Amino acid sequence: MSLPFLPYALPDIGEEEIAEVVDALRSGWITTGPKTARFERDFAEFLGGPGLHAVAVNSATAGLHLALEALGIGPGDEVITTTHTFTATAEVVRYLGADVKLVDIDPATMNIDPAAVEAAVTPRTRALIPVHYAGLAADMPALLAIARRHGLKVVEDAAHALPTTSGGQFVGTLGSDATVFSFYANKTITTGEGGMLVTRDEVLARRAKVMRLHGMNRDAFDRFTAKVPSWYYEVVAPGFKYNMTDVAAAMGIHQLRRAHVFQQKRAAIAARYHEAFAGLPLITAPRPGPGELHAWHLYALRLGSRVDLHRDAFIERLFELGIGCSVHYIPLHLQPYWRERYALQPAQFPHSQQAYERQVSLPIYTRMTDADVERVIAAVRQALGA
Ligand SMILES: *Cc1c(COP(=O)(O)O)cnc(C)c1O
Repeated sequence: MSLPFLPYALPDIGEEEIAEVVDALRSGWITTGPKTARFERDFAEFLGGPGLHAVAVNSATAGLHLALEALGIGPGDEVITTTHTFTATAEVVRYLGADVKLVDIDPATMNIDPAAVEAAVTPRTRALIPVHYAGLAADMPALLAIARRHGLKVVEDAAHALPTTSGGQFVGTLGSDATVFSFYANKTITTGEGGMLVTRDEVLARRAKVMRLHGMNRDAFDRFTAKVPSWYYEVVAPGFKYNMTDVAAAMGIHQLRRAHVFQQKRAAIAARYHEAFAGLPLITAPRPGPGELHAWHLYALRLGSRVDLHRDAFIERLFELGIGCSVHYIPLHLQPYWRERYALQPAQFPHSQQAYERQVSLPIYTRMTDADVERVIAAVRQALGA
């Protein structure tokens, strides 16, 4: 009898999440309401930064869009980001009619290369979107210094980065203009679909709150009278429909409480992979430095140059052995839209290109048993013929 297929990722939903969702359903209030407000408060408190505003939205994509909109990014502007990411990081720039300048990664960390960022700055550059790839913090001190030097805004794509630290500080409190987390089904904590925009900039937070719900502003009324009637609002802009529901927030409240336990479980799996793969012709996933917390959303290894087997064949063999894998990412410079829009060539992104050709993401999630982890390790050895 062969073992059941081990999926690449699975959410970890506990009884507390289920009970809270049921409570929302029974309460009569299922869209944005008290549970969303509580999730926002809990989230700001979790990161622990004083004066931190958390704005819950229905996806990280929405949060990134709102952050750039609030920063006034628009036609004629350029925004720099990494090619080694999901398309959502870059597409939001195009929503606003601005242009995307993709740059290469540092192959040691898979994160955006600050030197490549510096080289890509032009007089049109307005902002920078670092991605904390796999949950390992990008080089924020270097990136923030470049941003300061050139007067750029910084919006962190922290879709992988809860909980992640850099210099002992949580991503979300590092001093950028805004940071956006994802609660998509396979992320480190989940609400099914969802995201959180975090900022210390009160004006930005207020704009994002207005724009996440049709550009409706109730605060405007306060100028005239102390008491706002429940039916009153003013439309101050053509906003979006990006609010989080209380059904989603109900899940998020309890997922957040378990975020550190989840991280420890994933870190233990990563440590076991690292140890088991040490003697194999593989480049193991980049590991955190001292004082850095790695969220371990992904465990992306690379086939070493001595491995003859093509990456696709390696994934096929693992699949046949009952192990689900993935690839993070097909770089944006290879995607038809981005490639054609900006006439991009792989030679412009040698590190991302090389990584892509040899990369495989292994399962790394809290519901994996020790036996599941050993099964993945055995399958990797077998696929390599080791
Ligand atoms: C998942 C992801 C997003 C988008 O998150 P959603 O919540 O699905 O919108 C953005 N950037 C990166 C790097 C991601 O992995």
